[in-house]
Amino acid sequence: MKKFWMYLGFILIITIILPTILVKTVNLVSREDEKEISKEKIKKDVLDEKFDGYIKVYDTRTQEAVKIPLEDYVKGVVASEMPAEFHEEALKAQAVASRTYAIYKMNKFKEGHPDHPQAPLCTGVHCQAFLSLGELESIHSKKWVDKYWPKIEKAVESTKGEVIYYNGEIIEPLYHSTSGGMTEDSKDVFANDLPYLKGVESPNEEDAPKFKSVATFSVDEFIEKIKSIYPNANITKENLPDKIKLVERTESGRIKKVMIDGQVVEGREIRELFNLNSTNFKIIYNPKVEMVDIETTGYGHGVGMSQWGANGMAKHGSDYREILKHYYTGVEIEQYKSE
Ligand SMILES: [Zn+2]
Repeated sequence: MKKFWMYLGFILIITIILPTILVKTVNLVSREDEKEISKEKIKKDVLDEKFDGYIKVYDTRTQEAVKIPLEDYVKGVVASEMPAEFHEEALKAQAVASRTYAIYKMNKFKEGHPDHPQAPLCTGVHCQAFLSLGELESIHSKKWVDKYWPKIEKAVESTKGEVIYYNGEIIEPLYHSTSGGMTEDSKDVFANDLPYLKGVESPNEEDAPKFKSVATFSVDEFIEKIKSIYPNANITKENLPDKIKLVERTESGRIKKVMIDGQVVEGREIRELFNLNSTNFKIIYNPKVEMVDIETTGYGHGVGMSQWGANGMAKHGSDYREILKHYYTGVEIEQYKSE
C-alpha cells in the first residue's frame, strides 16, 4: 500500500511539476531569444539611421575616404562608366544600376570593403569608376562638360532614389560593356548562382566598338605565354593544333574550359593571360605565316546589363525600366527605403 502512494506521488510529480519546469525552461529560452532579437533590431536601427543621403567613398587618387551625397556620386559614376552620347533612357538605366550597386555595397560592407577598409566603395574600376566634375573637365574638356553634364544630371535626377529589388532585397546589379549577343549566367562566371543574373539575349549591339576584335600573336609569343603559366605543357609549333582543345562552353557560348596538353584550364584564365576582351573567343593558328589570331566577341564579363545592349534597346524605343527588367530577371524598380 505504501508503495502505491509512493507511486501515485511520483506520477503526480511527473504530471504536475515536470510540465511546469518544462514550460518555465521553454519560456526562459524564448525570452532570451526575444532579448537577442530586440538587441539586433536596435543595432540595425542605429546603423540605418546613419544613412543620411551621403555615401562614403575611398578616393583611389588621394587615398582618402570622402563623404559624397549619393545622388552626386551617381552622376560622377554615370559620366565615367557610360558614354555620354548614349540615349537618355540608357543613361537612366545606368543611373539606377549604379545607385543600386552603391547601396548594395554600402549595406554589405558597412565597416569597409576588405580591399579598402576605409570605405565600402572606391572610385576605381575595382568598384565603379567615379570622376568628379573637375576631373571630367580636365579629362574631356569644358565643351564636353557644357554639352553632356546637363544630360547626365537629368538622367540621375529623373530617377532620384530609385533602386532595383528582387524579392524585397536590393540586388547586386553587375553590368558590362558589350555582351556580344547574349549575356552570361552568373553561375558560369562567379561562384554564386543569383536568380536575377541569368543569361538573356542582347540584340542591337552591332554599333559597339568592341563587338568583335582580334588579338594577334606570333606563334613563339603565343607558346611562350602559355608556358609562362603551364611550364610543363609540351607545346611546339608543330603540335599546337592537337594540344589545345575545347572542353566546354557556357550556355551563352563563351569558353568555359579548354584543355592544354591534357590539363583543364578555365576560359577566364586564358582571357587574363592574353588580355582578351571576353571569354567568347576563337583561337586561329595559321602555320604558313606562323601567327595566332584570337578573335573575341563582346567586351567584359558578360554578366547583367550590357551597356551597348541598353543603348540599342533605348534606340529601339524601350524605356529605362524595360531595359533594367530585361537584363535583371524578375526584378522591381522602387524608391530606396533603408530596412
Ligand atoms: Zn573598390
